Amino acid sequence: MATFTVGVDMGGTNLRVAGFSSAWERLAAVSVPTRVADGPRAVLGDMAAAIRQVIDSCGPAELEGIGIGSPGPIELPEGRLLEPPNLPGFHALALRAELESLLDVPVPIVVESDANAAALAEAHAGAGEQHGADSLCMLTLGTGVGNGIIFDGRIWHGERGMAGEAGHIAVWPDGIECPCGNRGCLELFASATGIVRMARETAYEGRSPRTRDLIERGAPVTAQDVTRFAEEGDEGALVVYDTVGRALGISLAGLVNTLNVPLYVIGGGAAAAWHLFSPALFRELESRSYVYRLTAPRDKGKFTPGRTNVLPAMLGSGSGLLGAAMVPRFQR
Ligand SMILES: [Zn+2]
Repeated sequence: MATFTVGVDMGGTNLRVAGFSSAWERLAAVSVPTRVADGPRAVLGDMAAAIRQVIDSCGPAELEGIGIGSPGPIELPEGRLLEPPNLPGFHALALRAELESLLDVPVPIVVESDANAAALAEAHAGAGEQHGADSLCMLTLGTGVGNGIIFDGRIWHGERGMAGEAGHIAVWPDGIECPCGNRGCLELFASATGIVRMARETAYEGRSPRTRDLIERGAPVTAQDVTRFAEEGDEGALVVYDTVGRALGISLAGLVNTLNVPLYVIGGGAAAAWHLFSPALFRELESRSYVYRLTAPRDKGKFTPGRTNVLPAMLGSGSGLLGAAMVPRFQR
């Protein structure tokens, strides 16, 4: 009998649920706003209702398991949320146990960090699958910078599920304070949030007339605006993306020296500006990592087996949702 798995992407804005066939075709999907202000009970109730709806739509195929991708950090295997910054009031929520009692289904419910789920999807249906690389390290540039490490097709969790927090390794030790308690974290310089903050700084310094124009009109500044300004030659916006590339290159130098996996993938919404930040990324990576210099491919834009490849992700914004659905299959 045909089987399917259900994935849940629990974002701070939207709760997305989808059922996928064993070949990873999307069979049914439901998306509802995440009612963060109404508290964990309301969100869990919405999630259980959406999961039931998707399960009903995917029948008569047999449900194999349910995977939940949640903002980290999360304690595993319990799936306990630990002070998630985008979900205030959700601290210590035992996501897996709560859903098990709400849903009462005879299949495993597995909780995973959203960045780990995205990396799993990239390994089994994205760049890793395309190039035959079953070990990879992914950085996801979104509101923050997520990180997932895949060894031999499986997520590397560490002792309590908290491996893969490279977004909070300092790239500038005396840099600005990060909510995590550290200073100068990668996340502050390579996330969409960081891109907007840096663009505002360059505007106040008089280096970004385009961004200053938006601020003076009272309009919001987005990372997509900054990308457009950089493409149009705005000096401040170009400086911002040079900083994004440097921060990523410094981080990748450490990751390449530590992991020596064949593939490093940069994903998430802000990765669309790859053409703007990758020159600085490769400059830093080459100057700082001798492992990279010894193993870099001749053509950096093309995957070369046996070398250290750094490439943009292949899957788009749905990778977290697809990866969540893959968790019950690959992480058993
Ligand atoms: Zn931090």
